[in-house]
Amino acid sequence: ADEQLAHAQRLDALGQLTGGIAHDFNNLLTIISGNLQLLEMDGAKDPETAEVVASASRAVERGSALTRKLLGFSRRQRLTPRAVRPELLLADLSDMLGRTLGEQIRVMASCTDALPAVFADPGELEAALINLALNARDAMPNGGKLIISARALEVQTGEDLAPGSYVVFSVADTGVGMPPEVSARAFEPFFTTKGPGKGSGLGLSMVYGFVKQSGGRLTLESEVGAGTRIEMVLPVAGAEVVGPTETSAVASSGAS
Ligand code: ADP
Repeated sequence: ADEQLAHAQRLDALGQLTGGIAHDFNNLLTIISGNLQLLEMDGAKDPETAEVVASASRAVERGSALTRKLLGFSRRQRLTPRAVRPELLLADLSDMLGRTLGEQIRVMASCTDALPAVFADPGELEAALINLALNARDAMPNGGKLIISARALEVQTGEDLAPGSYVVFSVADTGVGMPPEVSARAFEPFFTTKGPGKGSGLGLSMVYGFVKQSGGRLTLESEVGAGTRIEMVLPVAGAEVVGPTETSAVASSGAS
């Protein structure tokens, strides 16, 4: 537990640092982008200048995508939490993943009956699950099983979670697994073992930031040669949040 706390504190410190940098950087990119738009307007006559400006704009767009991910990790992202129904989300997701991950990977999704809705940003929640599923696929180059499930969890006395009702989303694979030195750092931004051009090392850090900002918990269990299980614990939507009609509408619209 001490080790876990130290780990969380280290990630917190890292989040504050990267969040500050990303925020300032984002402001600079906004200025650059505004100026490029001005140039775009009168550079249109000269095709060469137009191409230079367009190329700079693309770089700025990449830069903003990067800062958005970092802001996600540092929990400075603007989230719009709503009531999301786990069983509908998982049904959509497993259909989509079954179609896109290829024949080598068997996707299985299961839900315990009558799960309550969670209170989370629907788009970010779906993006987080997709992120975990794509990591699982990368960990199974020769195929395997991807098991996505959801179950209820009651927390009585808060350790790192406030007492209350939660839903646990679990994403497990039968892939290569992680040695301890990788699993210890997997949530850090820019930590990747995937080699240049392949991994950004921002996937799990974004998921971590999203889950923490949503009042939940992210855990990881992994064994080399056996597989990995990552669990997102998210709070259940309270009665104060939304009415039942909106609940079902949000859950079925998924990511927007
Ligand atoms: P990226 O996928 O860009 O490398 P992530 O933050 O998503 O960045 O993951 C960080 C590292 O954690 C990966 O490079 C990999 O070493 C390890 N990892 C993540 N998910 C899994 C998994 N399901 N199985 C094995 N290793 C994983």
